[in-house]
Parts: sequence; C-alpha cells; structure tokens
Amino acid sequence: MVLRMSRLMLKTLRDDPADAETASHKLLVRAGFVRRSSAGVWIWLPLGKRVLENVSRVVREEMDAIGGQEVLLPALLPRENYETTGRAGEYGDLLFQLKDRKGADYVLGPTHEEIFTQVVKDQCTSYKDLPVILYQIQTKYRDEARPRSGVLRGREFQMKDSYSFDTTDEGLAEAYRAHRDAYIRIFTRLGFDYRIVSAVSGAMGGSASEEFLAPAAAGEDTFVDCPACEYAANTEAVTTVVPPVEGVAHGPVEELDTPDTPTIETLAAHLGVPASATLKNLLVKVDGKITAIGVPGDREVDLGKLGEHLAPAVVELVTAEDFEGRPELVRGYVGPQGLAIDYIADPRIAPGTAWITGANKNGKHARDVVCGRDFEVDRYLDVVTVRPGDPCPRCGAGLRLDRAIEIGHIFQLGRKYADAFQLDVLGQQGKPVRVTMGSYGIGVSRAVAALAEQTADGQGLCWPREVAPADVHLVAAGKALQTELALEVAEKLHAAGVRVLLDDRAGVSPGVKFTDAELIGVPQILVVGRRAAEGVVELKDRRSGERVELTVDEALARLT
Ligand code: ATP
Ligand code: MG
Ligand code: MG
Ligand code: MG
Repeated sequence: MVLRMSRLMLKTLRDDPADAETASHKLLVRAGFVRRSSAGVWIWLPLGKRVLENVSRVVREEMDAIGGQEVLLPALLPRENYETTGRAGEYGDLLFQLKDRKGADYVLGPTHEEIFTQVVKDQCTSYKDLPVILYQIQTKYRDEARPRSGVLRGREFQMKDSYSFDTTDEGLAEAYRAHRDAYIRIFTRLGFDYRIVSAVSGAMGGSASEEFLAPAAAGEDTFVDCPACEYAANTEAVTTVVPPVEGVAHGPVEELDTPDTPTIETLAAHLGVPASATLKNLLVKVDGKITAIGVPGDREVDLGKLGEHLAPAVVELVTAEDFEGRPELVRGYVGPQGLAIDYIADPRIAPGTAWITGANKNGKHARDVVCGRDFEVDRYLDVVTVRPGDPCPRCGAGLRLDRAIEIGHIFQLGRKYADAFQLDVLGQQGKPVRVTMGSYGIGVSRAVAALAEQTADGQGLCWPREVAPADVHLVAAGKALQTELALEVAEKLHAAGVRVLLDDRAGVSPGVKFTDAELIGVPQILVVGRRAAEGVVELKDRRSGERVELTVDEALARLT
C-alpha cells in the first residue's frame, strides 16, 4: 500500500515540546512518530511504529540467522522468581510491582532470565536438547528514576532479549561469539556508528560482558577508547584496585579534626601530601566504612560539600587488604566539568562542585547523600577516575573519553540462574549436568531514538534506508495535475516494491510539504511540481541535499 498522507494520522509540530532536551526527543515528537502518554511511557504513532518494526525486523532476521528461536513470554510475572535469584532486592525500586485480587505478588518483567531458565528446565531434559538460543521482542518495565530523553529511557520499552543454554563453557563461549557477530551485523545494517566496549555485569551477574555503545552527546554512558590499540571500555568497567595516590602511606586510623569545612590544605595535610598534589581515586574509611572521594588536584573544586560529609567522621585510609574478595564496584569519575562518584558520569554536575553520590543496596541512586545514612557504602569498594589522556591499561597511550548511548549488552552469565533454579539436563554419561547461560539484550525502541540522535540534522530526522518509514517521500506540489501524476508514479514505485510515502494532502502549501518532508526524514524526496506538465520531476537526496531534475521514467529507473 502507498502510504497517503491525506489519510495518515499525522500531525507535525513546528515547536519543540517544552520538556524535551535531546534532539531525538524533540524531533520524534515534532515529526509525529511518538507521543508521550505518561512519564517514560510512549505512544508509537503510525510513522514511528514503522521505524520500530523495521528495527525489529532486522533484529529478527539476524537472530534467526544464528539459530535463535523466537518465543513470547509474559510481561506479568510472579515476584517469587525474582526473590529466588535475589534480583527483587537488587532491582529494588526499579521493579514495577503489583498484587492480583487474591493478594499474590507480581512484577512487570524488567528482563527475563528467571522465567527463561524455568522454561528450559521444563522443556529440555537431556544434553541432546541443547544448545538452544531463545529470544523474544517484548515490552519491558523499569521504573527508572530519571525517565527523560523520550524513548531513549522509557519506563515501558521494547527490548529484544535472548538467552543461550549450553552444557559446556565452550558452548557458552560459542553462543556469546555468535551473538556478538549477530549484533555487529544488526547495528551495521541499522546504520549505527557504534563501539563495542568492555562492560560490567551489574544486576545481571555473571562474568564476561560487553556493551554496544552509540556515541552521542545525549548518551548517559561514558566510555574510554584508545587511539593506539583495541582497548575500549565503559568507564564503569575501568577498574583500578588500589588508590594511586602518590606518596600516601596506607596509615593507621587517624582522627581528622575538622570543626568546620575542611579546606583542601586540611585534607592534604591529613593525607600527608602537598596541597598541590593531584588526588584522585582516593578511598577512605569514614566511621569504619569504606567510601570513596575523588579530589582533583585543581582548586576549582569546592570542598564544602565534602566537608559536610567528613566533619564528624573518623577518616582512615583504605589498604589493599580491604579489597580482598570484594568485587562490587562503585564508580568515580572526574569529568571535564567537575567531580562525580557514581555509577555513571553525570553531565549535569556543575563546574566547581564536589559531589558525593552513591547507590544503595537496591541499586537506587541517591544524590547529595550522606554516607552511612542514605546508603551503605561498605558494599562499594572500587573507585575509578578516568580523565581524557589517562594511560591506556594495555598500551599506555592517552585515552579518549566520550559519551554514548547503550544500545546493546551481551553477558556470559554462567551458572548463576541455573544454580538458583537447579537447571540440569541429563549428560552424556547419564549424570545430571548443570546448564550454563548467556543473556543478550538490544534496546529496540531505544535504537530508534539513538539512530535519530546520530543521524538528524538541522532540518529534521534523516533515517538510514533500512529503518526509514518509507524509501521515497513523494510530494505532490501543486494542483490536480501534480496530484494525479504523483499518484501514478506512486503506484508504479509501489508495484516495483518501493515503499512510498505520498504527500497528497489537499490545501497544504508546497512550502509546508517540503518542510514536513525534511522533518520526517525519508532518504529520497521526489517532488512532482512546476514541470509536471512536461513529465519532469525533481529528486532530492535528504542527507546530501543534492537535487536533480529527471523525467518520470528516469526517476523510476533510479528509484527501483
Ligand atoms: P542503562 O545503562 O541505559 O540503564 P541497562 O544497562 O540497565 O541500560 P540492560 O539491562 O543491559 O540495560 O538491558 C539491555 C538493553 O535494553 C540496554 O542495552 C538498552 O539498550 C535497553 N534499555 C535498558 N533500559 C532501557 C530503558 N529504560 N529504555 C529503553 N531501553 C532500555
Ligand atoms: Mg539501567
Ligand atoms: Mg547500562
Ligand atoms: Mg546494560
């Protein structure tokens, strides 16, 4: 079917929505692709749904190509399963929870490891039933603390999640590799500029994990990459175990006597370093609990806030032994704009302010927290502070630092979930074998916004062909003659398998039609205008802006 704008439910907007900060949020709303329903919950309108479906189609094709079997599991899940694995606690407030009429506890799935493990336990009994890769494209629910940036971070969103089940570690490695390769094909086909970086496993658990990141200013992740070697990592995953504070002895407990706000001099004197020293990755114990303070050497940082936290406390430097066998991480970051200690670098931290931030045991973020009161810092041990130019851990070259959007994440989970649910199959020797798992996610709805972020220009959206809502945006710019010819061309293109969006709206000026065509961002714009009577049309490339006049036949030949 030719998609006719005269009948399409579409209302483009001239102005940006008031609450929108990112380009994708503004443009997807203005071009009529999505509409906000409630905070972090979105309506996909006809054009948006087409793009979403295109992303899903590419994902499906590549998942099927590695032998993935598509299934659809419920979003409404018994809470019990997430208690069995401890993830109810780990996700904490992120989990949407509800009760049924009988009082039974349910959650809306934030990700589906638990139930997939149970499905395989039910369906697969012998080693002969494995390996298996299952996937779904489904709605996920996470009660995100900061659902901003439109569909980039929804509280309800679409994810492709897949899970691999194997009897051997080699099998898992193979499934992981297959997914990694499939993701490379998917993100390449979708038209992304992306990087694969080392990542931490977070609430998933497990060992090896990598992220697919799409560099973009609107991204909430920060990654480093090395210009000289292959090294690239989310700053969350850049780990240093002992604070590299030059010349600081790991000393005994000392009292930091700070009646008021400690100055940088007080702090430096306490630490036994010159006040001019670059202090970073500083780990101390505050009232016996390990906490982290990043102190850039420059004096722009206001230590006032830091002082509030430290004033009544016994401060003690942390020794290497404190880290033994404690792998959990808190992450610190000194960015171009200031200081942050958090899971992630936060672009909103004002210059010249010191922040201590953290996360409680439920993974809930706090800001302006008081250590020990608002969260238990002893769970978090490792602080990382990376700055542009810091040495690459592999080759020593100066690292680059950039912002990005996480579009995919792959994990070798190992046996964490299989252990929790005793997922065994009968092995070759007739004995039960514990199954090993991987889990692999792609943010399908986020990918739409991330692509918009990377490809939009001053005129509007600018879709890569594979995901565009149509191949050709045909504009009937004029009266009945233009509309008739445009319809005829549209039918011919359609018959040749070209997806056409036809602007046949009556009573809409050519100027408005052109502006809308730029905003909607279909890769080719074909205008039937002034020279329609001679059978001449104009073809415009949306990205380059290049235009050529062609006869209808020439245009058809080019586009089919
Ligand atoms: P983020 O760090 O952005 O919060 P995550 O690490 O929590 O993401 P995963 O649990 O790894 O996300 O989920 C797999 C994929 O789902 C992510 O790589 C991302 O593309 C997508 N995703 C996660 N949270 C959201 C969300 N709130 N809205 C849209 N997509 C999301
Ligand atoms: Mg998250
Ligand atoms: Mg993440
Ligand atoms: Mg992730």
